[in-house]
Amino acid sequence: MAERMLKFVGTPQAMPDKRPAAERRRDFDEIYEGFARDKAAEQAARCSQCGVPFCQIHCPLHNNIPDWLKLTAEGRLEEAYELSSATNNFPEICGRICPQDRLCEGNCVIEKGFESVTIGSVEKYITDTAWQRGWVKPIQPRRERPESVGIVGAGPAGLAAAEQLRRKGYQVAVYDRYDRVGGLLIYGIPNFKLEKEIVQRREKLLRDSKVSFHLNCDVGRDVSLEELRARHAAVLIATGVYKARDIAAPGVGLAGIAPALDYLTASNRHGLGDSVPEFESGMLNAAGKDVVVIGGGDTAMDCVRTAVRQGAKSVKCLYRRDRANMPGSQREVKHAEEEGVEFVWLAAPQAFLGQETVSHVRTVRIHLGMPDASGRQTPQEIPNSHVNIEADLVLKALGFDPEDLPAAMSAPDLGVTGWNTLKIDWKSMMTSLDGVFAAGDIVRGASLVVWAVRDGRDAAERVHTYLAGKALAAARIAAE
Ligand code: FAD
Ligand code: SF4
Ligand code: SF4
Repeated sequence: MAERMLKFVGTPQAMPDKRPAAERRRDFDEIYEGFARDKAAEQAARCSQCGVPFCQIHCPLHNNIPDWLKLTAEGRLEEAYELSSATNNFPEICGRICPQDRLCEGNCVIEKGFESVTIGSVEKYITDTAWQRGWVKPIQPRRERPESVGIVGAGPAGLAAAEQLRRKGYQVAVYDRYDRVGGLLIYGIPNFKLEKEIVQRREKLLRDSKVSFHLNCDVGRDVSLEELRARHAAVLIATGVYKARDIAAPGVGLAGIAPALDYLTASNRHGLGDSVPEFESGMLNAAGKDVVVIGGGDTAMDCVRTAVRQGAKSVKCLYRRDRANMPGSQREVKHAEEEGVEFVWLAAPQAFLGQETVSHVRTVRIHLGMPDASGRQTPQEIPNSHVNIEADLVLKALGFDPEDLPAAMSAPDLGVTGWNTLKIDWKSMMTSLDGVFAAGDIVRGASLVVWAVRDGRDAAERVHTYLAGKALAAARIAAE
């Protein structure tokens, strides 16, 4: 092993080639090229095969990273794919959009002075290769089970659960209020981070595996939760969080100020070929505009980079803390800066100016004060530090909260936490309603795709335990 691995001393870290910023600004294609076979093997061989792999511990899916790196270094790609797909339903998606700097790669223990193994890019390479070579096949369960499971939400949590349950032979029906499968993978995250075909080929695989999809079906409006409970042996709620946080500042109701997700959804729909009146009218289109995005998370980063690609005149990101204290990935900030986005750190909106349409954002400078209970420094306004920034499109990217699900689903007995996320018993993953489980952002609050996959997989296991227990009890009664 030592011969082939442990190459981090002599082989420098290399990511796949990144397209030049000037070219990236003109299209919505992904920004990284794929690894070539020898490059992937060379990078995988940098791993020192730790006895206690911190990369694996800090991956929410506990992917068997050192083993699939070794298999890749040895050119045994089909085995690498089998290992990688055993713990992750969407390795090629996580390889593209996980914030690896905070998860696996950020915890790679390669000695200081040498940089971490490029785990995400190798993971993406393995599964992209598997797709190209036809190794990714529809599920054929060893035995069919009669029980059906209804899943509400076709985002990563719902889809991971659907795949796992189908593997066990359950009849799986997924309901979603959108017209497409994928949740935020399709309508939130832009194409330049995750090309839509990557999500759509996963949808096709699930359909070919006989998972059925009921789209344009809003549970609560088109069908009730009670009806689903009667229709299925178990129900899983994986509806995500969509209520955008707002800003309480004068002028926030002016035209030209929009929630970030409306803007990103319009752009994604346009990219998918839909007719989008708000995009075509220019309302949710940055072309030729001075754009100000408020927020410092992943959604804000996606907005600024989308605006650049739509041909905005200028794009600024306003964030009330500094670069070191922003929630978004540092890698994304770097990409945005390369693409021409200007970051206005330590600044907060105080008012929006304009007649009917916004023309300026009145900002105030911020000083970071003493840490609060969460340990984060408290932003404090600096008196008389106002600056007006020109803007004819302002996007609010301040995060998301859950909707009032018990009301929306006419299920007053569905228990929620103080944050309005669904309350579950963490051992069984069941909500307060018998046979109704929950997973993903609707339980955690706005989180990450990799956590949604983890939750979906865990929930599938718990649903199986619940249904297997019921089947056993029924068999006992029948035998008596
Ligand atoms: P979702 O993906 O939100 O899916 C929920 C689904 O439920 C949706 O399809 C919705 O239509 C459906 N639904 C909701 N209510 C109903 C109802 N009543 N009836 C029927 N269907 C319903 N994470 C990363 O790891 N990396 C990133 O780079 C990243 N970028 C992001 C960028 C943006 C703009 C946003 C908003 C989020 C980003 N995230 C990222 C977070 C990630 O997308 C989410 O954590 C993840 O998608 C949550 O998965 P989920 O399945 O719980 O919910
Ligand atoms: Fe890293 Fe995400 Fe892959 Fe885990 S799933 S190994 S955190 S890129
Ligand atoms: Fe390899 Fe780094 Fe993981 Fe160690 S921590 S097993 S060197 S990838």
